Amino acid sequence: MFRSLRMKLTMIMLMLMGSQMAIVGTFLTTGVSSFYMNNFYRQLDSVFGLDQREFVSDLRNAADDDNGAESLREMLDANAGPLGIDYHTRNYFVLDGETGAWLAGSASADALPMEQSLNLLTARTAVARGDSTAVGDDSYLNAEYMDAAIPILSGEHSYIIYILDNQETLTGLNQQLFHIILQSLVLGLLITALLSFLLAKTMVGPLEKLTAGAEEVAAGKFGTALPVESTDEIGTLTGTFNEMAGVLHTTLAAMENERDKLDTLFLYMTDGVVAFDMSGAVIHCNPAATNMLQRKVEIGSRYDDLFGGLFAFGDMLALKRPSHAEGEMMVGERTLELLLAPFSHQELGGVLAVLHDVTERHRNEERRKEFVANVSHELRTPLTNVRSYAETLRDADGEIPPDMSNNFLDIIINETDRMTHIVQDLLILSRLDAGNTEIAFTRFPFGEAIESVVRANALNARARNHELTFRAEEELPCIEGDRNRLEQVMMNIIGNAIKYTPDGGHIRVTAGLTGDRQQVWMDVWDDGIGIPEESRARVFERFYRVDKARSRESGGTGLGLSIAWEIIQRHRGTLTLPPHDGPGTTFRVTLPVAQKSRAEEASS
Ligand code: ADP
Repeated sequence: MFRSLRMKLTMIMLMLMGSQMAIVGTFLTTGVSSFYMNNFYRQLDSVFGLDQREFVSDLRNAADDDNGAESLREMLDANAGPLGIDYHTRNYFVLDGETGAWLAGSASADALPMEQSLNLLTARTAVARGDSTAVGDDSYLNAEYMDAAIPILSGEHSYIIYILDNQETLTGLNQQLFHIILQSLVLGLLITALLSFLLAKTMVGPLEKLTAGAEEVAAGKFGTALPVESTDEIGTLTGTFNEMAGVLHTTLAAMENERDKLDTLFLYMTDGVVAFDMSGAVIHCNPAATNMLQRKVEIGSRYDDLFGGLFAFGDMLALKRPSHAEGEMMVGERTLELLLAPFSHQELGGVLAVLHDVTERHRNEERRKEFVANVSHELRTPLTNVRSYAETLRDADGEIPPDMSNNFLDIIINETDRMTHIVQDLLILSRLDAGNTEIAFTRFPFGEAIESVVRANALNARARNHELTFRAEEELPCIEGDRNRLEQVMMNIIGNAIKYTPDGGHIRVTAGLTGDRQQVWMDVWDDGIGIPEESRARVFERFYRVDKARSRESGGTGLGLSIAWEIIQRHRGTLTLPPHDGPGTTFRVTLPVAQKSRAEEASS
């Protein structure tokens, strides 16, 4: 209850007020008491003091009378005014100098103090010593009464004039003062309570509003700025608080924006990202990482279960930026490259793992190596032949019969032609790969192109006793493309069919429309040696040949189909091996129909 600033302020004010009144009360009552006492002695001094010796000697003379006590009483009665004798609270007494017994007075002997007053004792001692100057007039502030004893010595009589004030006036005065102070205290406290309430309201009210505002900001609500109601320190504080909340809001919004950006980036990036906290638990994992790791990575999964086999988590945390760890791991058939680096070494830091799928890169690298090995191998064989025949001719020194040397020279020319073919095909492929090949797109009738290629192969087919036929299933439209290159593709496929079919075989070329009449197709069917199941997927690879010896024998380079595949790709078509019943093979080419011919079709 007393923890609130409002209560504390009220309590401090009340305590201040109370202590103030207590101090004032104490000073006031003490002041009044000492004033009263001083006044008492001033009055006595004005009657019995040194400069009033005449009155004292008059008293001594009166004491000489037979009834000295009575005479003294009369004289004192006459001076009752200056002495402040009111016959009630202040009285005078005429006492016997030796015994201290009551002889006369303004009040009876009962009014005398029960115990012997110190002042009275002083006076009696003075009387006993015959000293008329020693006066007992020493009272203290806290005593119950004030008194003074004046010895009167004359001849054989000795008296003591004893003035006694029972302080009832002072007590009454003090009591009244106390009541006044008490009343003002109560009134003061009431006023103070009211004032402190108002003060607290003006001071604590804005602070309470500020606290409520701070609580809202802490809860993430930046809605409205607090009103600045004054120009004092609290007003300045409210203004500064509003500014701070504004800056905080902008900063938080910027951070949230950054986080959203990062989230979107993580969500759609092709690289996998997994973040771990300081304890090695997953705090973030994007879909690409889940895909690559081929498992569901829950928040809280352990580092050791994922990458513990490659690097220890502690070592990763200890890495100093910009150094990082790199490794490779196999997940199923895929090869993943893993990059690990710590982020922020603070309490909220951890380790970030980035995953790249390098399977394709590895495969390409493998393919490249294989390709270089194949090229070297393909060129080495004819080169070796050329060299050995040329050496034989040189070493024979004209001793070889002309028939044989001519035969050797033919072989050399053949091998050189072969090498030229290989180099030419490689050149075509490399141009296609680099995208440097100019494809001259023209519009030409698809059926006509097939017919001309079939015609060009007729002689070849007849030489092998093949039956080569062409049949279009319907009227074929025009296509758009590089006629020369597309005819080269057809030539290659039909040529292969002739090559890889034993003599006296059948080669059937058919064509038609497909894909909602948006594409043309051409099938080259033969009943030749066929392609085994395991090789079907590889025939479009560079230098791939099912039977190397047979292919080389027939002058093949193993590049024909890969060139054909690349050319068909450039024409947005397909080159496939559809299912084939019985012995032999079928190759299928599909190509898009030319735009114009579609329009023509629509109008017709
Ligand atoms: P090549 O110059 O050796 O003919 P290609 O790239 O044209 O090279 O063909 C690749 C391989 O595919 C050939 O070596 C052959 O083994 C196989 N092949 C192609 N066409 C046929 C076919 N019609 N019948 C059987 N095998 C074929």
